[in-house]
Amino acid sequence: MPADLAETLAAIAAEGLSATERGQVASYIPELAKVSPAHFGIAVITADGTEHVAGDADLPFSIQSVSKVFALVEALDSHGDAVWARVGREPSGSAFNSIVQLEAEGGRPRNPFINAGAIAVTDLIAAAHEDRAGSGAILRRVRALAGDDSINVDGAVAYSEAATGFRNAGLANFMKGFGVITGPVASTLDVYFHQCAIAMSCRQLARAGRFLAHAGRCPSSGKQIVSPERARRINALMLTCGHYDASGEFAFQVGLPAKSGVGGGILAVAPGKASIAVWSPGLSPQGNSLLGTRALEQLSRAMGWNVFQP
Ligand code: GLN
Repeated sequence: MPADLAETLAAIAAEGLSATERGQVASYIPELAKVSPAHFGIAVITADGTEHVAGDADLPFSIQSVSKVFALVEALDSHGDAVWARVGREPSGSAFNSIVQLEAEGGRPRNPFINAGAIAVTDLIAAAHEDRAGSGAILRRVRALAGDDSINVDGAVAYSEAATGFRNAGLANFMKGFGVITGPVASTLDVYFHQCAIAMSCRQLARAGRFLAHAGRCPSSGKQIVSPERARRINALMLTCGHYDASGEFAFQVGLPAKSGVGGGILAVAPGKASIAVWSPGLSPQGNSLLGTRALEQLSRAMGWNVFQP
């Protein structure tokens, strides 16, 4: 018998706000290091459109790598299956910013959710637009999905990452050397840093992810965003690659497609049932929200939401 959702969320948020072990806030992007680890928010939108929220669910945070899902949607829309010539569909088992597999594998990143893969996807979007307008295309996509034009890029975060993003510059230059990046490296990175710096609340993120829970169709706008097949495949990638070298553990503990970001956000999908966003800035050693992951474990168990169980 599934638990009551409102009660479950209230209990999860109470625990998330008061926990003493909260993980480490990302510090390699100086602007993110300023965020208090005390935050915790969660938003769940069920199939009937009811929005259940608790904690800091309406406070915007840096979505970081959760943006890789929206950039993938944008690139698949504009380039179709040509995306898969640039990037694979296998879990990497490596850290999100790792370069080790790239040399052995001809510069083709394992999947679109590690940094190298996301930069390759962003390069396709950047190439389809004048100058650096590709980040505008990703932002418009996110706004349309969330039904909210107030969503914006946090310029200070984008600048902070651009000033310190040496590893991403390394990945991009390396891929450029293999011909996997075709545009100017500086503009591709600029678009990538801006997409990562999009700021959203849990409520906005859960709204933007609803189409993934409902076979590619956003129930609130009635629009078919992607085909059911594409939605299923994006979910498959989120399940297998969405948490980098902790993706197997996340599938084991939570059993839902989900994508994390170093801002501490996670977007998770319970197909047919709910779109879920959780935020707590403290991270595990693999760069995934510590309390966010714990909250999703509790929620999926309490509600019986798990793609591996009927
Ligand atoms: N912008 C971050 C980076 O490229 C995103 C990483 C993440 O969220 N895991 O390092």
